[in-house]
Amino acid sequence: MTVLQALPAFEDNYIWCYRGNEGGSIVVDPGDAGPVLAAIADGLRIAAIFITHHHNDHIGGLGALRAAFTGSVYGPEDARIPGIDRIVRHDDVLQISGFRPFRVMAVPGHTRSHIAYTDSSVLFCGDTLFSLGCGRLFEGSPEQMLASLDRLAELPEDTLVCCTHEYTLSNARFAAAAEPDNPERDHLIDDIKARRGSGQPSLPSRIVIEKACNPFLRTHFPERLTGLKEHLGFMPESRLARFAALRAWKDQFR
Ligand SMILES: [Zn+2]
Repeated sequence: MTVLQALPAFEDNYIWCYRGNEGGSIVVDPGDAGPVLAAIADGLRIAAIFITHHHNDHIGGLGALRAAFTGSVYGPEDARIPGIDRIVRHDDVLQISGFRPFRVMAVPGHTRSHIAYTDSSVLFCGDTLFSLGCGRLFEGSPEQMLASLDRLAELPEDTLVCCTHEYTLSNARFAAAAEPDNPERDHLIDDIKARRGSGQPSLPSRIVIEKACNPFLRTHFPERLTGLKEHLGFMPESRLARFAALRAWKDQFR
């Protein structure tokens, strides 16, 4: 098993398993216990579980996994998430034996209590940042989501971005519509097509890649978002207005 492994679940979810130097793994957002129990049968040992937000495809396996390990389930304060042992908040630092310290980041937008976890080399960001995209705004405002994404974009550039869905190629179509001229992104998409073609996940991504290719992290380059300007008939003045327009366009993009 590699240090960082994405267990496929449902249609297009990944349950990330991150193994520390004592052999135990942090399991992130086990929406389905099945793939995790299969990994346990293959030698996975759970050191802890991280939950990013309350959606069922991220927490549905918690009950069935409770008997499979003795560590803690970490998650945000939200009554919709049963089974959290340790409620964590923005800037909390988690010391888990065998791992570097993890920092908790509040990243509201997709949901109001959404959090992310980073040890500065990996980022578990749930449904906030996707490769070439970002989460839908179910409970938060564009302003909240933009602030959350800005916070993630400040992480070290080499941070591995472990998103929870395999949306990259479908996001790529929208990215190309919003910012038609981006050769680095085109190159990335070729790479990802090759990886997906051989059955590999497109993930993890890296912060540096997302800053160069993800239109939702590029709202400070209005001159590059020529597709957005064409779609709207004008270029919104502020970053926030550009972000909100991109997100609204993506919601109905086919
Ligand atoms: Zn979600």
